[in-house]
Amino acid sequence: MTPAFATEAMDGDARTGSLTTAHGPVRTPAFMPVGTHATVKALHPDEVRATGIDILLCNAYHLALRPGVELIERAGGLHAFMGWNHPILTDSGGYQLVSLAEVAVVDDDGATFVSPYDGSRLRVTPEEAVGNQARLGADVLMCLDHPVTHGTSDAIAREATERTHRWAERCRVAHPGDGRLLFGIAQGGFDPGARRDSARFISGLDFDGVAIGGLSVGEPVDTMLAMTEASVSELSAERARYFMGLGTDSELLGAIALGIDMFDCVVPTRLARNGSALTPEGRLSLRNAAARDDFGPIDPDCPCAACVGFTRAYLRHLFQAGEILAHRLVSLHNITHLARLMDSARAAIREGTFASFRADRDGRLRSAPR
Ligand SMILES: [Zn+2]
Repeated sequence: MTPAFATEAMDGDARTGSLTTAHGPVRTPAFMPVGTHATVKALHPDEVRATGIDILLCNAYHLALRPGVELIERAGGLHAFMGWNHPILTDSGGYQLVSLAEVAVVDDDGATFVSPYDGSRLRVTPEEAVGNQARLGADVLMCLDHPVTHGTSDAIAREATERTHRWAERCRVAHPGDGRLLFGIAQGGFDPGARRDSARFISGLDFDGVAIGGLSVGEPVDTMLAMTEASVSELSAERARYFMGLGTDSELLGAIALGIDMFDCVVPTRLARNGSALTPEGRLSLRNAAARDDFGPIDPDCPCAACVGFTRAYLRHLFQAGEILAHRLVSLHNITHLARLMDSARAAIREGTFASFRADRDGRLRSAPR
């Protein structure tokens, strides 16, 4: 079988390539906006696509609770239901074992969640996690894993990693094939040796791609990059590599330099709703008084509708007045910003100039006035 991922160019360890899915190719490095409830908040799917985004992440856990897998299946699958006819990756619910730890109980056979919507119980085994994602119609399915937070003891982290491995083997057996891709998830806590062991084990199960999970959960950036490097050292060069949950420019470029291909993060849309715009010079708060009579755009080089049509002063006014257009425009801008960052990174890798591109972008961030 032809591998789903192909590298087209390398520059150091950074690489650009393409992941082939049933709904089209994903150009890598790729950023995936998060559509938790089968929507990128406030944006029409066509607007998201026009920013240059190839693939969205949707949360199988949230969708299984509401509106339910069966309803989405009857609607013709997630693509038809949400009006996005391009690649979709679904996460399995593993992350919610951390983010919703107070309502999740883990045992060796799977996880039990209490619904925040109506208090009902949702039982997810590795087989059900894969089965639910396939029924939703996702192009890329994720194994059920057991991440831990930063600060967890090594013994607990080891236990969670071993459970992740047993679950990965069960997900591999449950994989329906039929053109869908299945990614494994490597864990290993915050010990480089355990990171390497886990990456080697998961890589050996021959998934279509491997994600590095359980990072960017509060640890220092140096630790995060060291753990990423340890993980990548044991991953196959022939398969896609996905860092789960990363969304700031400098960290994204740092991970791309280590050979990561895919990312997701809720940050661009969450920041947008709070009035923060992403720029090459860092975050710009449109709620600050400094924006009151600033008649320039968020980013003069950005082609998005917010930057072409509106001033910082107008956007600040919209936030002050509680107008929903503010959320829409800044969400559009922030996703455009990250889509363009990935586009520039791909071009720099192809041209062999990624290191200087990264240094230039990091320099602009560092030299920006605060
Ligand atoms: Zn813009």
